[in-house]
Amino acid sequence: MKIAVLKERYPGERRVALTPANVPQLAKLGIEVLIERGAGVEAGFPDKQYEEKGAVLVEDPAAALQADVLLQVRSAGMDADNGELVRSHLQAGKIVIGSCDPLGKPQAIADWAGTGVSLFSLELIPRITRAQSMDVLSSQATIAGYRAVLEAATELPKLFPMMMTAAGTLTAAKVFVIGAGVAGLQAIATARKLGAIVSAYDVRPACREQVESLGGKFVELEIDATSSEDKGGYAKAMDEEFYRKQRALMADVVAGSDVVITTAAIPGRKSPLLVTAEAVRGMPAGGVIIDLAAERGGNCELSQPDQRVHEHGITILGPTNIAAEIPNHASQMLGNNVVKFLANMVKEGRLEMNLEDEIVRDTLVVHKGEITNDRIRSSLA
Ligand code: NAD
Repeated sequence: MKIAVLKERYPGERRVALTPANVPQLAKLGIEVLIERGAGVEAGFPDKQYEEKGAVLVEDPAAALQADVLLQVRSAGMDADNGELVRSHLQAGKIVIGSCDPLGKPQAIADWAGTGVSLFSLELIPRITRAQSMDVLSSQATIAGYRAVLEAATELPKLFPMMMTAAGTLTAAKVFVIGAGVAGLQAIATARKLGAIVSAYDVRPACREQVESLGGKFVELEIDATSSEDKGGYAKAMDEEFYRKQRALMADVVAGSDVVITTAAIPGRKSPLLVTAEAVRGMPAGGVIIDLAAERGGNCELSQPDQRVHEHGITILGPTNIAAEIPNHASQMLGNNVVKFLANMVKEGRLEMNLEDEIVRDTLVVHKGEITNDRIRSSLA
């Protein structure tokens, strides 16, 4: 079986779907890797390294698309216009694996159904123990949480750690993290390592222990969040009255923070508005907000996707593809996730779609011209 990896063409996307180290791992599964020349360069993986590990370099993307499987970092709904190159050369029956925003952009998935390819969405990998090593949302969120703190630290006109120097004592920066999932927990850990005083809030009460174990202070809000978690461990969408109370109760914490990092997401939904323009106005001058939910509407009223907003003396950034800012390690984690995902499906060098397997069933979104996932079908209805 042949797998192709193309150069990512989405603006600003510097990651690559496989690294050179993944090539021999796939060879053991009976898979040959075709890689478009230059595909890994921006992530720090030159062509020569792929070649040394046994991959075949291909000049022409159309030739690479003759492979049985195409691996992409961004596919379908995540690939905007650049999907055209792939769609115009990919024949029916081929398999595409990548992140494709199936719940956010269900229409793009419907469009792909018409091509006759089979499409796997890596975002839909179930959060079960067996699939942890394949979980691209977690690996990329880890990078995002780390990078968000570094961006905040460079924007802030203050240092993060407390320092007692001959030139006087500097107080530690105060960082407030909203949403303590994978990205939020990494943000807490990174900000603590830099010496900041960190507090955090999440609607899921189970997060308290995790926040505290990283040296953060869990913010108590007088609000009933007992029904905030679904069976899968994700946050449920709450009603507008809940969010109104939450915003009001958090405004004081926001006002007391130099940096606010927001990561609060509801899978497949618009992100809840948690930090109002009024709350931003209360922050100390020079404050920084990094809104990691900007792609889905944002947690902060003032954030704009991929824009630098400066209001009331506060800088607000809403990066939508922050993992691509650390493309080497992001690709290393992504490539390892993808190899584990493939290893689960490949038997004797062939990819078997065993729909009895929860991982295969949940991630296969398009097959034989049909959308095969109920959640996507119902969001189109
Ligand atoms: P996510 O990116 O979907 O959301 C980020 C965080 O925002 C979540 O912790 C969520 O509870 C929080 N949030 C939502 N609304 C909020 C609000 N109004 N106020 C404050 N916080 C709010 O989350 P994620 O990082 O993907 O993690 C979601 C769940 O999946 C967690 O329970 C996590 O432990 C679990 N998980 C399991 C596995 C596994 O078992 N393989 C892997 C990764 C994550």
